[in-house]
Amino acid sequence: MKQDKNCLFCKIANKEIKANIVFENDSLVAFTDINPQAPVHILIIPREHIPGLNEISEANNELLGKIQIAAKELAKKNNISRDGYRVVANCGPNAGQAVDHIHYHLLGGRVFKWPPG
Ligand code: 5GP
Ligand code: ZN
Repeated sequence: MKQDKNCLFCKIANKEIKANIVFENDSLVAFTDINPQAPVHILIIPREHIPGLNEISEANNELLGKIQIAAKELAKKNNISRDGYRVVANCGPNAGQAVDHIHYHLLGGRVFKWPPG
């Protein structure tokens, strides 16, 4: 599996850097965001180092599907399923992607505006 030894989220997935991990399995790790933007703010990442959405392909179909299921399950676990939640993947500078290891924000526990800022 591809890894980047200088990548913050690879280091979190490998437990070289501490994070509040709320879910993990062979392919995914989920942990609470260090700077939460909502009462529930969890980041879901693959263990594999994929820089962002621009780098995915059909080879990642299964992995990407698993991320969606993990988002749903974590929403349920955090009691935000019924009221609703948002899943966001920022890609590139215009979207404010700050960490170049693909990650999906699971946000909930408050009302969100649309369109986003
Ligand atoms: P982006 O802006 O790239 O979509 O999201 C990166 C997210 O990673 C931000 O919400 C930021 O707060 C979070 N983050 C950055 N560094 C760390 C860290 O060391 N630990 C945790 N748990 N979250 C981090
Ligand atoms: Zn990485």
